[in-house]
Amino acid sequence: MSLSSAPATILRVAVSAPLAELFDYLPPLSSSPPRLLPGSRLLVPFGRGKRVGILMAVVTRTDQDPARLKPIELVLDPYPLFTRSDLRLIEWAAAYYQEPLGEALFTALPARLRRPEPLREERVPGMRATPEGLGLDLRTLARAPRQRELLALVRAHPQGVALVELTSRLGDGRAALRALRSKGLVTDCRLDPDTTGGALPACPAVAGPTLNTDQRTAVATIQDALGSFRPFLIDGVTGSGKTEVYIRLIGSVMAAGQQALVLVPEIGLTPQLQTRFRERLPGSVTLLHSALSAGERERNWHRAAQGQAALVLGTRSAIFVPLPRLGLILVDEEHDASLKQQEGFRYSARDLAVRRGQLTGCPVVLGSATPSLETLQNARTGRYGWLRLPRRAGPARTPTISLLDIRHQPLRAGLSPVLRAQMHDEIATGNQVLLFLNRRGYAPLFTCHSCGWIGECTHCDARLTLHLNQRRLWCHHCGWSRALPDLCPACSGSDLRMLGRGTERMEEDLRALFPHAGIARIDRDSTRRKGELTRRLGAIRRGEVQILLGTQMLAKGHDFPGVTLAGILELDQSLYASDFRAPERTAQLIVQVAGRAGRAERPGRVVLQTRHPEHPLLQSLLREGYGGFAAAALHERRAAELPPFAHLALVRAEAPGAAEPTRFLRRARALAEGLTEPRVRLFGPVPAPMERRAGRYRAQLLAHSLERPLLQAFLTRWCRDLRGLSRAGGLRWSLDVDPQEML
Ligand code: ADP
Ligand code: ZN
Ligand code: ZN
Repeated sequence: MSLSSAPATILRVAVSAPLAELFDYLPPLSSSPPRLLPGSRLLVPFGRGKRVGILMAVVTRTDQDPARLKPIELVLDPYPLFTRSDLRLIEWAAAYYQEPLGEALFTALPARLRRPEPLREERVPGMRATPEGLGLDLRTLARAPRQRELLALVRAHPQGVALVELTSRLGDGRAALRALRSKGLVTDCRLDPDTTGGALPACPAVAGPTLNTDQRTAVATIQDALGSFRPFLIDGVTGSGKTEVYIRLIGSVMAAGQQALVLVPEIGLTPQLQTRFRERLPGSVTLLHSALSAGERERNWHRAAQGQAALVLGTRSAIFVPLPRLGLILVDEEHDASLKQQEGFRYSARDLAVRRGQLTGCPVVLGSATPSLETLQNARTGRYGWLRLPRRAGPARTPTISLLDIRHQPLRAGLSPVLRAQMHDEIATGNQVLLFLNRRGYAPLFTCHSCGWIGECTHCDARLTLHLNQRRLWCHHCGWSRALPDLCPACSGSDLRMLGRGTERMEEDLRALFPHAGIARIDRDSTRRKGELTRRLGAIRRGEVQILLGTQMLAKGHDFPGVTLAGILELDQSLYASDFRAPERTAQLIVQVAGRAGRAERPGRVVLQTRHPEHPLLQSLLREGYGGFAAAALHERRAAELPPFAHLALVRAEAPGAAEPTRFLRRARALAEGLTEPRVRLFGPVPAPMERRAGRYRAQLLAHSLERPLLQAFLTRWCRDLRGLSRAGGLRWSLDVDPQEML
């Protein structure tokens, strides 16, 4: 036997399974071996069955017994789905968040491609003009402008145009499309996918405003950095023209023939950006978020991965979509906690965006009116370029925030006399008023006045919220509910009372207090029906509504140019919440709500009702704005050795039994202590703030270090040990690196 024969070809493969290790295989047994490029999907024998794998590397040596290596079955796709830098990003993310690589890779793929199914090379559905449609005088459609616009677009493509293109260019034009089809002016057709990408002519782009000095500086600075890695923070108040800056930058990147990736925290924010991008940028916007159908998502993923999509707009999971010509990454509302996945693979899309920019060699722009303390600290130390837009662009003026001390005030519907009077004034002048109440339902507490019984969830350590519309008590933590009892379940007494006020009750009270005002309530309950949110936002925009009442949903992203007064109610609780991020989140919420007021020419006022007007957070926010608050908060974080000055990882354990989680975490702690790393401190185990949730008991153990690389190395070793621990009694555990919620 000779060991010096030609070097072997060994395929190192990540298999779709929750396994951290790679597996070695041999090339397929075939007379004409396929091209074996990293990033290709393979079908491999695994255990007794077959699995999909991703080829990570082609090497010449193996640590395993070469005689026992099996050949792969086949290469599934004609070309690799991931480029090298895509693979490196996912490898990095898997290592950083201690996620098995197989798992991480396959979360990055559309669901169908996680199975051994071939790439869909099938033809994509499209539209083509009929001879009648081609010959029609467009003026006959003068009274149906949407149809006219659509038909003109379809006619510009005699060979047909893909449906995804049409909808991404024109928004939801389905009704107009149906009308054209039933008139026999257009017909369905199937198109070759290669001809659909970027096939549309540049739309007649609407000219943007002339940039102001701050915007020009931001655009020029970032444009200078195109082509190399450099992270930036655009720290600009609401309405300062950040989006305008994004548009210019995306335009430059597109003009250079590259792709831009824009991430937003929530699907609800995509329609507005989509509209503005569509109006101003050539080509189409390719969407990637969970509200798309699986088929749509897969098609869009391909358009991105094949380099056809010039502009991809998505929510956090879009950070993993392959982009062969990536030239710029933008993360809007970078402070938003939704950018961090809270279950399974707990990655931060914002942090991965920065990493991805580094691997790709392109600038990364994080934008916010209320940047996270982590990002601000990076800007303060110069690691990120810091571009400030402190003034509103255009005619709008920055609203003034004032505190309203409501101690000893006679409240009606939770509103102080001063706020009520201001509301009357604004409504009488034809303006709109926004009330922010971050609590949905009718009343947060339902209780018996005779015996003190309180409606509580049988599965959680939580109280039930009364939803009077449905006559049910709901648990907002696990979704359990019960019918509203007529008599006290404990003493059969009939004096049952509801305490406190959620948005549902507030709406009822407001109708009594302001009988002539139109009221739009915006929360998860009132907008559950499809299209309802759009309908309500439309009514607000058209001025059919004088009072906007809502939860966080109202505070995010939407433009309400008619709102001149914003009232913030019941925020005191969050000032005193136990999570160390509570002050930061509260300040962000206040500033974001304030950002909704006075967006047009009319100045805006923001009134914060509180029983703690002397609270230092409120004081610093009022006197020095978000920047001043953030500086003070960073000072406190430094003194307390909390992020961004320290790094955290949280192990959570849960089980049906009360003792199991703590018992498991004690063993986990013992293992950690065995690793003798004094620069990683451990806190716990302690019960979770809500110990029982959805019928499971929960506890947690926190690891803390001042040095990130050290914590990382520690976590890698610790996780290996933790995976070996036995798990009795239905115990589940997870590790959260850089946790955002300490729940
Ligand atoms: P942000 O994203 O920071 O909230 P936008 O980009 O949405 O701000 O801008 C707020 C409003 O001001 C928009 O209506 C926008 O069209 C307008 N605007 C932006 N930049 C300018 C400018 N330089 N001159 C005039 N109006 C502007
Ligand atoms: Zn009772
Ligand atoms: Zn519950």
